[in-house]
Amino acid sequence: MVRYINVKSKSRIEFIDVTEIVQSVLKESGIKDGVCCLYVPHTTAGITINEGADPSVQRDILNTLSKLVPHDLSYFHREGNADAHIKSTIVGNSVNVIVDEGKLLLGTWQSIFFCEFDGPRHRRIAVKFL
Ligand code: ZN
Repeated sequence: MVRYINVKSKSRIEFIDVTEIVQSVLKESGIKDGVCCLYVPHTTAGITINEGADPSVQRDILNTLSKLVPHDLSYFHREGNADAHIKSTIVGNSVNVIVDEGKLLLGTWQSIFFCEFDGPRHRRIAVKFL
């Protein structure tokens, strides 16, 4: 069984903390031990785990990605969102989190972020428990 989390981004580029909603999907499932696979079925978005306590970290990651992969370079892809495809590949489109005693095994400072690179859009995250 695959569950889905709907995400609505508001900017072209942003991180959206989905830790609490993933935890609530886990709680609903009743699963106590295993692995939570989170998969983003999009080519211009991603998912990552990083610091959630200080929002400056998210800003630094986004700013650095934008410096590495500028929006306005001349790319072959003509849709105008080549940078978003590249950022999606750099960040990746899946993460796995160990489930222990019904909780996501995240470090104190870790949060799960949906990464929007070509918003605003309606997106979704597929969730599978193993
Ligand atoms: Zn494209």
